[in-house]
Formats: sequence, structure tokens, C-alpha cells
Amino acid sequence: MTERTFSIIKPDATKRNLTGKINAVIEEAGLRIVAQRRIRMTQEEAEDFYDVHRERPFYGELVEFMISEPVVVQVLEGENAVARYREVMGATNPAQAADGTIRKLFALSVGENSVHGSDSADNAKIEIAQFFDASDIVG
Ligand code: ATP
Ligand code: MG
Repeated sequence: MTERTFSIIKPDATKRNLTGKINAVIEEAGLRIVAQRRIRMTQEEAEDFYDVHRERPFYGELVEFMISEPVVVQVLEGENAVARYREVMGATNPAQAADGTIRKLFALSVGENSVHGSDSADNAKIEIAQFFDASDIVG
């Protein structure tokens, strides 16, 4: 089943000029980048985006991190794109991420972990709609 997922190349990665290398891993995994924009997230956008983590101890740090440098927001399309991209990203903590995954290759820590990917098809729709108009996505 062809589906779409939402991805963010996070500040630790944009700062180190890793956008192209991460995109190469994404494309080699068979996912197509059908929309992409480099933005600076506002505090309000970051707070909204991570609202599910509002009560977690790292929430403030996470929001500060996400607005600290530009990010690249993306829509990825492919077969089972949500689950596929979770595989390609690897575990949240890079110390536990499998070889060849983006987080194993590039992440610095559990917080500065280089990429975000939606965790369900429903959340993918919500997250894509937060950052893209339908007409910005060219499949
Ligand atoms: P993401 O939602 O960014 O794709 P994930 O689904 O693997 O990552 P979540 O549990 O949803 O992980 O956590 C969201 C983000 O919050 C993580 O990607 C990471 O940047 C940050 N985070 C999670 N746990 C911690 C922690 N213990 N300390 C600091 N930051 C954390
Ligand atoms: Mg998550």
C-alpha cells in the first residue's frame, strides 16, 4: 500500500550540513521525497507539534532544541512509508539503533537524534497538514 509519512531533519543535522546525506539514505530506502521545505520552526509550532510530550520532563528542552536552528520538513511517499521510515530512522536512542539507520549513522544523543518520523498513518496526516498545503505535495 502506497502511503505518505511526515519527516523532519532536525537542528543537529541541518547544523552539521547533513541534509543531503540523510536524503540519500531516505531515497536509497525506496522512499520518495514528494515535498520538502527548510524552515525555522516557531516556538508555537514546536509546542503544538510535540504536544503529546507536554508532560514529559524533556519537553522544554525538546522545544528549545527544535527552534535552535533551521529544520527541513518533508513528506515521504512509498510502500508502507510510515513503518518503513521508522525502520530507516532506527531507535530513538542512537546507542540502540541498528547499523545503517539514520540515527546510527548521524545522531548525537537521544535528544539530538537527527530525524523525526510519524508513528502512525493518522498522525502522519495530522503532521503533514500542520506544515504543507495539499498543492505543495507533488507525488
Ligand atoms: P520522533 O517523534 O522525533 O520521531 P520517536 O518517536 O523515536 O522520535 P518519541 O518518544 O516520540 O521518539 O520522542 C520524541 C522526541 O523527543 C525524540 O525524537 C527525541 O528528540 C526527544 N526525546 C525523547 N526521549 C528523550 C529523552 N529521554 N531525553 C531528551 N529528549 C528525548
Ligand atoms: Mg515520536
